[in-house]
Amino acid sequence: MKDARKDTVLGHAGRSPRENHGIVNPPVYHCSTVLFPTLEDLEAGDQAPFDRINYGRIGTPTTLAFEQAIAELEGAYRAVNTGSGLNAIATALFAFTKTGDHVLITDSAYGPTRRFANDTLVPYGVEVEYFDPTIGAGITGLLKPNTSVVFLESPGSLTFEVQDVPAIAAAAKTVGATVMIDNTWATPLFFQPLQHGVDVSIHSATKYIVGHADAMLGVISCANEAQWLAVKKAATRTGTCAGPDDIYLGLRGLRTLAVRLKQHEASALALAEWLSKQPEVTRVLHPALPDCPGHELWKRDIGRSSGLFSIVMNAVPKPALSAMLNSLELFGMGYSWGGFESLILPARPAAVRTATRWTDPGTMLRLHAGLEDADDLIRDLDGAFARLRAAL
Ligand SMILES: *Cc1c(COP(=O)(O)O)cnc(C)c1O
Repeated sequence: MKDARKDTVLGHAGRSPRENHGIVNPPVYHCSTVLFPTLEDLEAGDQAPFDRINYGRIGTPTTLAFEQAIAELEGAYRAVNTGSGLNAIATALFAFTKTGDHVLITDSAYGPTRRFANDTLVPYGVEVEYFDPTIGAGITGLLKPNTSVVFLESPGSLTFEVQDVPAIAAAAKTVGATVMIDNTWATPLFFQPLQHGVDVSIHSATKYIVGHADAMLGVISCANEAQWLAVKKAATRTGTCAGPDDIYLGLRGLRTLAVRLKQHEASALALAEWLSKQPEVTRVLHPALPDCPGHELWKRDIGRSSGLFSIVMNAVPKPALSAMLNSLELFGMGYSWGGFESLILPARPAAVRTATRWTDPGTMLRLHAGLEDADDLIRDLDGAFARLRAAL
């Protein structure tokens, strides 16, 4: 339907029952070898390798269905599916960098993004420089003629600074740099980076898109054909691909993304409000709260929020932190987020920053509000704070 809202697109993108016996969902293709009926067909496949299904690793109708749905949601030319979110980040960076290039990465980027840049791009002769996530148009002062990529993540991992995406993108264009963003937090539903000047939008689909903590998946959306081709070639050269059943879980997750996010959003806001009233909590880092850095930008460009945010407490000694966290009934402790379940994790941004300094001496916790009842989650946290107080 023309001009359909995103919730509607989620239900219909990437499937065509009429071409599939009337069956609502697309089939899952398990595939390595694709057979060619004639030598001529085989050779034609070599001429235009991305125009046809010719080998499992390059993509199947299952891959294409997922890519098509994501591209439609993000307003992209096309998307490229990868085996994980980190794989999507690495593939996108590989696609647009070569020896001698200069790459700018936000200081608030996901830790493994930094590790890939520092430990893989740098040894290949790429100059990697980090910048203050709140820099905005000031990025101009860091741009060089050989800046090939400006990499954003908004809100930032752990610390949730919201970036001035349009201003940074406009500045980056003056030197011809490709602007990328890790858009995992906002999902394709809450923020469309390509409509704000970004060239390449990256998702860890492992998080909200799959949404059930049961598959690893990544995806890269590209604004135009040349960018898509560059990313597709990089993905093909490095051999990234996801298993068909995991891609199907991503496609299935999309169907309920809007309703799940509504609940994640409401519960996270309820938790954030309750937490902000606890005497031990000094800051709540949630883009929808006025004291979060970049809150005005969040209001202007995003306006909705998902279930992930952080709090800072007065510095808590280790034994008291253990007492607080070790007996939670509903919150699990573990990496990742975006599933139906609530999570909590200590975080130490000071350890990874280089362009800016994280000087707050308090203890940071990152929380993910799952789909449990928010009052039950608050009761679980209430117990945790009681144990904390008893241990101090
Ligand atoms: C988890 C995460 C990734 C990596 O995704 P995987 O699918 O786990 O590889 C990338 N960016 C952000 C912001 C993440 O939280």
